[in-house]
Amino acid sequence: MYTCKDEGLQIDVFPIHNAALAWVGDTIIWTGKEKYLPERLLNDEIVDAGGGIVVPGFIDCHTHLAFGGWRSEEFEMRLKGKSYLEIAKTGGGILSTVKATRESSEDELFQKCHLILERIKRLGVTAIECKSGYGLTLADELKLLKVYHRLKKPDLSTIKTTFLGAHTFPQEFIHDRQGYIQLLIDKMLPIISEDNLADFCDVFVEDSAFSTSEAREILNAGKKFGLIPKLHADQLTSCGGAELAAETGAISADHLEQISDNGIREMARANVIAVNLPIASLYTQQPYLNCRKLVDAGVKVAVATDFNPGSAPSYDIHLAMLLSCNHGRLTTDECLKAVTIYAAKAIAEENEIGSLEPGKKADFIVLDVPDFRFWIYHHNGADIRNIFLKGTQIHP
Ligand SMILES: [Zn+2]
Repeated sequence: MYTCKDEGLQIDVFPIHNAALAWVGDTIIWTGKEKYLPERLLNDEIVDAGGGIVVPGFIDCHTHLAFGGWRSEEFEMRLKGKSYLEIAKTGGGILSTVKATRESSEDELFQKCHLILERIKRLGVTAIECKSGYGLTLADELKLLKVYHRLKKPDLSTIKTTFLGAHTFPQEFIHDRQGYIQLLIDKMLPIISEDNLADFCDVFVEDSAFSTSEAREILNAGKKFGLIPKLHADQLTSCGGAELAAETGAISADHLEQISDNGIREMARANVIAVNLPIASLYTQQPYLNCRKLVDAGVKVAVATDFNPGSAPSYDIHLAMLLSCNHGRLTTDECLKAVTIYAAKAIAEENEIGSLEPGKKADFIVLDVPDFRFWIYHHNGADIRNIFLKGTQIHP
């Protein structure tokens, strides 16, 4: 069993050989070597892990789960040589998903998300973060956030929500940037905060989206409404997103493929979690984030899918792990911590989930492999033997 507690370095996953884990209801009450299992627990019901390994449920801490339509035609366009920015300039990209999302009803979006979530759970994911950002009007952003709140009921142990109204400028505000920013700050944030619809406020900081000064204004306004800052930063260009994350006290800065050395230093100093999203690099054929450089500089790195219809249409957290090792140069143990306790920290849930310790939720998976290194190396979803969510077995 790998406990993945929040101590030591990224590489320290705190394995226990011949381990036992005891839980009551949805909460872990004891972990340790089986031979030290307290006598009072010996007569309880036993689930035999059959020599498999037990790890915390995986946490996907960055997704854009709810959206209308898909964009497989753009995938083909990229294969024929068009870049992500070129496609966006000809009416594709985020704005085409905005159009399809506005045309979808809340119920349609809910049904689609529900089906996708069922499949995500089968990959061993027991908690997820979901962003708005394909509505870009008050009504459509609220629609997306309400879908997430409806999903919260029994679906996953944990669903955290992020307001990403600052994903891009909608068509109707292309020539009135400040007008859209005021709409975000004066109209959307107050209602989202009052209705408790989001935990975080995110901004896409990029030459083609929001500048650092525009992002600063939005994130600081979000903070006044109780929303913790998060950033899409330095993905396509190095534009000071990491430094802004440190300055605004962001909980995480995500992407970072083009982060500067100064940005790395600032994130380490301010203890901002870096979220690596390598599936986006795979699909857009852009450089991968060198996670090694960040870890060596003392930055905690989480790994997520960035699931969205354009740049990362796969929600396969296993693929994100494999790419984080092969291209991000994380070791397999570092990668395990990146999808458990550090991913929990990126969504402010580290006191509830992300490690196997007494008091935490009993979210764990049993893998039919000799060790976690083999799990990533073999890359075979069939190796998941059991999934437990809040203490209840949900797979097989
Ligand atoms: Zn994203």
